[in-house]
Amino acid sequence: MKIPVDKPVLVTSALPYVNGECHIGHLRTYVPADIYVRMLRKMGYDVRFISGSDTHGTPIVLSAEAQGITPEKVVEKYHEHFRQVFKALNVNFDYYGQTDSESNHRRTEAIVKKLIEKDYVYKRVTKQAFCDTCGRFLPDRYVEGKCPHCGDIARGDECDQGCGKHLEPGEIIEPKCKICGNAAVFKDQEQFFFKLSTFADFLSSYLDNLGGTLNARNYAREWVKKELRDWCITRNLEWGVKFPGRNDLVVYVWVDAPIGYISFTEELLKGMEGADKDWRKYWKDDKAVIVHFIGTDIIYHHCIFWPAMLKGAEYSLPDAVVASGMVKINGGTFSKSRGNVIWTKEFLERFHPDTLRYYLVSQSSHTKELNFSWDSFYLRVNNELVGVLGNLVHRVLTFAHKNFAEVPEGNIDEEVFAAIEKRRDDAISAVEEYEFKKLVDAVMSLADFGNRYFQRAEPWHLINKGEKGRESCGIVVKNALQILKAVCILLEPVMPEKMSEVWRQLGMESDVHSAKLDELMVPIESGQALGKPKMLFKRIET
Ligand SMILES: [Zn+2]
Ligand SMILES: [Zn+2]
Repeated sequence: MKIPVDKPVLVTSALPYVNGECHIGHLRTYVPADIYVRMLRKMGYDVRFISGSDTHGTPIVLSAEAQGITPEKVVEKYHEHFRQVFKALNVNFDYYGQTDSESNHRRTEAIVKKLIEKDYVYKRVTKQAFCDTCGRFLPDRYVEGKCPHCGDIARGDECDQGCGKHLEPGEIIEPKCKICGNAAVFKDQEQFFFKLSTFADFLSSYLDNLGGTLNARNYAREWVKKELRDWCITRNLEWGVKFPGRNDLVVYVWVDAPIGYISFTEELLKGMEGADKDWRKYWKDDKAVIVHFIGTDIIYHHCIFWPAMLKGAEYSLPDAVVASGMVKINGGTFSKSRGNVIWTKEFLERFHPDTLRYYLVSQSSHTKELNFSWDSFYLRVNNELVGVLGNLVHRVLTFAHKNFAEVPEGNIDEEVFAAIEKRRDDAISAVEEYEFKKLVDAVMSLADFGNRYFQRAEPWHLINKGEKGRESCGIVVKNALQILKAVCILLEPVMPEKMSEVWRQLGMESDVHSAKLDELMVPIESGQALGKPKMLFKRIET
């Protein structure tokens, strides 16, 4: 999606659910979202980037009960954990909140009240799983059983191992209590429903115009074409946002979680000049572009529940939903119990964060599944980061530093500017298509061009051919440094730390993080002192 350059942009990344540590499967959403934001800023957009911890729902309550601590303690621990992981990976949110904040409680209440006022919410007695042994209702993850759609083992609100479908309370077959393991019964219980069915026409035209990736739109369209059923939005739980006027009920976690996008925007802007006007610009007056980065497992929630809620409560609608494919490990799905998992923290103890960022986007197209294997990681690092990029940086900077110590005099060749311009255009279209692999491939082909350019010109021969030769050599070196400068700018969104290192070695005084794409075509300044070259990446011995 091409965004008008004068429109402010709000980019959100799906909220991590904070009842466990971050594994690399999580990162498929956050890293590309961060790359997207950095690229938009380079293109000149005014962007705000937010996310936060999803803190409510039954899995956290179950973890807390199992550990004999409060849900707040569980949230506190993993909220901090995720903050640290994002910091280590240079995923730079402008604001990272959490959904148990006062403002999220307040905003959720306001939205639910508005939906009630507009007659989109009604009360109905339904069958809910109940455990006679434990003497309690079993919302969502408190109950396990069979999926009514595919027959696989499912949890109360989701068929997470099988067909991935969202399940409404009472739908699960042969329910069992998750706490004591006994068979559960269905009991009548009063709950509140959102009239999702009345939004079918709205959703189908909304989805026709929604930007983002095709996989999100197509999946959601299928659901709208079939029958949209009303959505149970309350649960018998203590932990969560209270349903207005009912002390025994909280709203379903998928009501207050996306509302976090709104309250985090409010929290970010709080105290800033014109905060209220700004907040309305994003969420009320439709003056900004809203882009959600999510995983394919939560398309239903972001393309159906969420826009219907926003529409019903009179808020601005998201303009694009970008859904990344899931991550597999050695061909298998993530499983903590089977040990098929790679923890981000452990990964970062061994490898530079930029190598992981690079791998995550270069390995496969954003919407396709990514199959992680150590062999494929080593290959990317050794062949591409060391072999192509590291090689270019090393040979050009070492030669330039040794023979000139500064950027030599000379003009930039048309051929070099043309090569840079082509990659710039490729990079922009890659970002507009959310194809981050294309972005990386474009820049790596520029690095490859740089290697060939340097090799062909043989500056090491020129340098020994008198005054004239030295002059010609200087021109080759300056052009090679220009290519490096361009590689730095274009690759900074993917590898911010490493490109910052190269930027300094080029003797640039500015900050590569704030360097705009316009600077690609500005010749590197002759006479600026080059820094001491340093090895960029180390080969990984397998
Ligand atoms: Zn299923
Ligand atoms: Zn029980």
